[in-house]
Amino acid sequence: MKKTLLSVTLWALCANAHALTLIHAGTLIDGESSKPLQEATVVLDGNRIQAVERGYRSPGAGDTVIDWRDGTLMPGFIDMHTHLTFQGSKDSYLEPYTLNPADVALRGVMYGKRTLNAGFTTVRDLGDAGNASIALRNAINKGWVQGPRIFTAGTSIGTTGGHADKTNGRNQELVGDPGPKQGVINGPVDAYKAVRQRYKDGSDLIKITATGGVLSVAKSGENPQFTDEELKAIVAAAKDYGFKVAVHAHGKEGMKRAILAGVNTIEHGTYMDDELFALMKKHKVALVPTLTAGEYVADKAKIDGFFPEIVRPKAAKIGPKIQDTFARAYKAGVTIAFGTDAGVFEHGSNGREFVLMAQAGMPPMAAIQSATSVAANVLGQSELGAIKSGNLADLVGVKGNPLEDIALLEKVQLVIKDGEQVK
Ligand SMILES: [Zn+2]
Repeated sequence: MKKTLLSVTLWALCANAHALTLIHAGTLIDGESSKPLQEATVVLDGNRIQAVERGYRSPGAGDTVIDWRDGTLMPGFIDMHTHLTFQGSKDSYLEPYTLNPADVALRGVMYGKRTLNAGFTTVRDLGDAGNASIALRNAINKGWVQGPRIFTAGTSIGTTGGHADKTNGRNQELVGDPGPKQGVINGPVDAYKAVRQRYKDGSDLIKITATGGVLSVAKSGENPQFTDEELKAIVAAAKDYGFKVAVHAHGKEGMKRAILAGVNTIEHGTYMDDELFALMKKHKVALVPTLTAGEYVADKAKIDGFFPEIVRPKAAKIGPKIQDTFARAYKAGVTIAFGTDAGVFEHGSNGREFVLMAQAGMPPMAAIQSATSVAANVLGQSELGAIKSGNLADLVGVKGNPLEDIALLEKVQLVIKDGEQVK
């Protein structure tokens, strides 16, 4: 009797292990092909894509079917530039005094969930405070909370008074003089120490701020902020530890130095010109546009008191330029990896970027690929960004066809991460 029960249980477990999820997709955009496939079945086995087939396969015993015949299925989107543990607002300049890293990390859980619900199953997080994004990544990977896959830089690296110096504009008696551990370096020795500290902290990549920026409490949004020697040291140290280097930059000189030093991506890229487009292509550096952030800060600069007065003119000047730079960069053939700077604006509105990219002349299919296969490639994650056999089962769906109406991507209705339907 006991033996029979055991064998029945074993049989049921085995049958269960082979149960598949079949997604019947009216339109399938696989992230790589230039044309969509009509009437396809995507077969999921656990957290992997087992097969992609033409037509609607009938389910076997125990299989689950997700009926998406009136919609479009795509790979889970990748946002190459978020700040999941930060939310810019009128109050955000006071928060460093009122919130501890634990508060910031817990609040980030909510932003992570919003981001995942918006269809972004993977993000590259580019700069936090107190390594809160590393704690958030670990909690998601352990299954403690639900959120996107995170590849995080931890805390950004800048120079004294630079864009990543968090003590700018603060009471000097309270904040002291930050060093490599806090992400502030001066000279190649500091550069090595800062990169090694991020290795110790558990960062996945390095983020540096090569020029001034909009939201920091400092005068210039575009001046170069590292010497060539500092940049070379950062890139050399990063290579030793297997890190890629993402570079915040608006001004031309700082961007040029960073590209020549051997970095991987330029974020924002506001004052890029033809010379830099050619240099980006030659050195295989991708542009992460962050058009949504540009639009947002330009809008908010019109409101009295929203930004500190030192920030306001930078937001008004730089914000409106980013979309035009992107349009020229795309035309020039620069690799575009989708990224928004979410956290500057509200988390979960990341899909707005698709609309702004299309407005600037990028075809919808190219915009979708920049958020899927192109982003995965720039990230160095070959199991993401495409619906094909063997890849991780990260998928999103919208009702209707986003190639005809790109704004549908702001309303993702189906989200599957790691084979699990989360929306
Ligand atoms: Zn940013």
